[in-house]
Amino acid sequence: MRRLLALVALTTGLASGAVARTSHAEGWRPPGDRQTLPALPLRVVFTEVHDAPVRDEAWFGKQLAEARRLFADAGICFDRARTGYLGPEFANVEGRAGVQRFDAERDPGFINVFVVASIEGLPLWNHTGEAWGVTHTTRFVLLSARADSTAVLAHELGHYFGLSHSERSGDPMKPNGPPPVRFDELELLQIRHTAFGQLGQGALTPRPRVESECPAPSPEIVFDHR
Ligand SMILES: [Zn+2]
Repeated sequence: MRRLLALVALTTGLASGAVARTSHAEGWRPPGDRQTLPALPLRVVFTEVHDAPVRDEAWFGKQLAEARRLFADAGICFDRARTGYLGPEFANVEGRAGVQRFDAERDPGFINVFVVASIEGLPLWNHTGEAWGVTHTTRFVLLSARADSTAVLAHELGHYFGLSHSERSGDPMKPNGPPPVRFDELELLQIRHTAFGQLGQGALTPRPRVESECPAPSPEIVFDHR
């Protein structure tokens, strides 16, 4: 896994350069080689039908746990920093126009995840999730209550960080694949590169890592906790 670490170091160096030019973020300095990132802030917004969220906390908790497990290999943990609710007019998402309505509901500084009852009218494999945004700093995630796999949030967050689909078995970015095992090296680099960029631009507000919520990365990947 020496190759991975060398590549991570290269990407970190590139990202550090970008950060030096735009340092809106307060209290955050670019991490050194192989360093874990600060936790990334997640805002979860449940749409409600008949005054009840379309999915419960236990269901979302499994999605979040799987996302934390898979993104640990990139030195990333997610902090669920905020919870919100939206009315039934947002619950059933229809087509691109339906997706775009959520843009105005984002809270800046967070990765916004909207849990909806259904997503229809999009060219998706199975209408269980969507990551959308005009620019890479305005992305957000839609997660459908119809998602049976616990890995849909991780897959959509992969898109959020700029990944496209993979054909590799066990890859979280393989549509309708078996339960994911891990991201590959290039995917991890892309995720880190995007995360560094968003923190550096102030698009994401860094949060302290709560280690009890952050799974360890795969054994061959070692990060410094500085
Ligand atoms: Zn996808």
